[in-house]
Amino acid sequence: MENNPSNPADISAVQNKLLLATGNSQDLDAMLQAFMTAATEQLGLDNVYVYLLDGLDDSSIGSEEPACFHYHLGFADTCNQLPHKYDAVGSALDQLCRNDENALEITQTEGPQYLIYRLENIGAIIFETGNGEFPANIASELIPVMHRLAQASATCLTIRELRNRIRLNKVREKTYEAQANQDPLTKLPNRRAFRYNLYQEIANTKRYNHFGAVLYLDLDHFKNINDSLGHSVGDMLLTKVADRLMRDARAGDDVYRLGGDEFVYILRNLGHTEAQAMSTSQSVARRLLDSMAEPLQVGQYSLHVTPSIGVTIFPDQNMAESDSESVLKHADTAMYKAKSEGRNTFAFYDPEMQVTASKRLIIEDYLRKAINNNELHLEFQPIVNVQEEIIAAESLVRWYNPALGNVPPDEFIAIAEESNLMLEVSNWILESACAYTRRLKGEIGPNPTFRYITINISPKQFKQQDFIPNLLRALNKFELAPDDIRLEFTENILIDNIDSTILKMEELLASNIRFILDDFGTGYSSLSYLHKLPIRTIKIDQSFVTGFKYKSYANKAIVDAIIAMANRMDLRCVIEGVETKDDADYFISKDIFAMQGYYYYRPISGDGLIDLLRHDEKKVASE
Ligand code: C2E
Ligand code: CA
Ligand code: CA
Repeated sequence: MENNPSNPADISAVQNKLLLATGNSQDLDAMLQAFMTAATEQLGLDNVYVYLLDGLDDSSIGSEEPACFHYHLGFADTCNQLPHKYDAVGSALDQLCRNDENALEITQTEGPQYLIYRLENIGAIIFETGNGEFPANIASELIPVMHRLAQASATCLTIRELRNRIRLNKVREKTYEAQANQDPLTKLPNRRAFRYNLYQEIANTKRYNHFGAVLYLDLDHFKNINDSLGHSVGDMLLTKVADRLMRDARAGDDVYRLGGDEFVYILRNLGHTEAQAMSTSQSVARRLLDSMAEPLQVGQYSLHVTPSIGVTIFPDQNMAESDSESVLKHADTAMYKAKSEGRNTFAFYDPEMQVTASKRLIIEDYLRKAINNNELHLEFQPIVNVQEEIIAAESLVRWYNPALGNVPPDEFIAIAEESNLMLEVSNWILESACAYTRRLKGEIGPNPTFRYITINISPKQFKQQDFIPNLLRALNKFELAPDDIRLEFTENILIDNIDSTILKMEELLASNIRFILDDFGTGYSSLSYLHKLPIRTIKIDQSFVTGFKYKSYANKAIVDAIIAMANRMDLRCVIEGVETKDDADYFISKDIFAMQGYYYYRPISGDGLIDLLRHDEKKVASE
């Protein structure tokens, strides 16, 4: 022992040091450790053990041991006789516990010596020394210290208990929150969650300037099932419906159960125009109808339920404020409209959208059969250089349907893009354009100026995984060189993932396939990304060009700036929509690569183009 605490001055120093060691931490174990370290140093101990009363030590909760003290913490490294159950210390502890003695107990045995203190209603602490006895009087002198240690421990435990309660309350609150937002039957989020999320989504659409939609589904004749098969079958059916609706939700869209047989979807991020939002929500509604057409197995029954779906787009352009109340009301009104139209269908709240939607449906229906019925064909619009010689031609698809007449390509291509028809249509275009290029090469023979046919590629087509292999296969099939064609893309192919788009462009270049960036200037950020793209030619959008003479000074300045910038970046400019001699002359005076427009040629038939090239005619104004 360093000091000799039998000396009264030393004893009070030891008392003080030990008292100090009880005050440093709110964490029970850290506080005890500090105390045990101090005690070991001050009293020359070999071991210190702390026992806690039942229920205070986390680890003893649920334990079946009858003892009322539980070993909690040992200090120094020879704790191998633990717990002190069947030895003298063990019985002393038992006694201390049972007799509820608060005073100290000293057990002297042979071998190690022990001092055991009851730490009030916290537990007990045992001092052990293996060599020699404890200093005289020390046992009683330490009672006030132990009193203080018991208090400090109680404080730590209270703090821990409070923290635990706070934590538990938080967990409870969360569970409660989840339950309050969840429909107990289907586990879908409920009306409360719907209101909250719709409110937020409306705010988002305003902030990010895009559109969303609410689809309100009500099952047709659900009451019959409840009445005839009982409520438990009805409940099971609702769960199955919920599962299916969840399965059919696109990533990012949510399904809610409003109650009864009513469900709603919130569709997010439907694009920056109402038309886009309309067409996507229409496709979702139709997909849901298709999916619900499959019967649902409920126990022994195979049940067929159909929904009526009301669709409304938000924010509503016709209203100053779209709030969640009115959006829900509109969707509900639209749902009743769908019911009144014979159920198992969808209806838009907005009557104009309803008309467009039905028209689209009709077009889509006819388009499905257009390829097999040979209703599609290609036309070709010559492209001239500044010497006004034809150097290329753009292939443009045409659709004539006996019932619909000529349907403009922008219209049916957009519809094909949103349904799954575009792949079929674009494959047809690719094959036909390649077949025609082969024929043209054969029929006109070597031509000093004519070089290629351009093919418009839709964004969906470009994104197809096998787009490049398909293209190479077509070239191969018609024995064409990559240089016999050019692809035309619009900036829309960049929207989703610019990096993967660039990779694909580079892959095309590696196969010597070249392309033109079409409709330049109409996209979302033309100039900022242009330098990132492996592009050699841009086609300035005709909206800048047609009627050039009458356009604003600003418009001319933009076109001039685009041409100047393109030249600086070593890009070639094609001018599209040249309708008059004045405009043609203006552009010829600029540093551009080629022109296309009604002033030179309108789109003409394949035969027409071959005729033109055979006769090697120079510019023929078509008007
Ligand atoms: P686009 O690729 O920008 O095609 C040029 C459009 O401008 C063509 O309309 C063409 O007839 C028209 N045009 C050419 N010169 C003039 C002019 O001087 N004045 C005016 N007012 N218009 C001119 P079209 O054939 O109706 O095609 C419209 C759009 O439909 C095309 O725009 C393209 O986005 C799409 N499209 C047409 N054919 C195809 C195709 O084969 N595949 C794909 N993916 N899209 C196509
Ligand atoms: Ca084009
Ligand atoms: Ca264009």
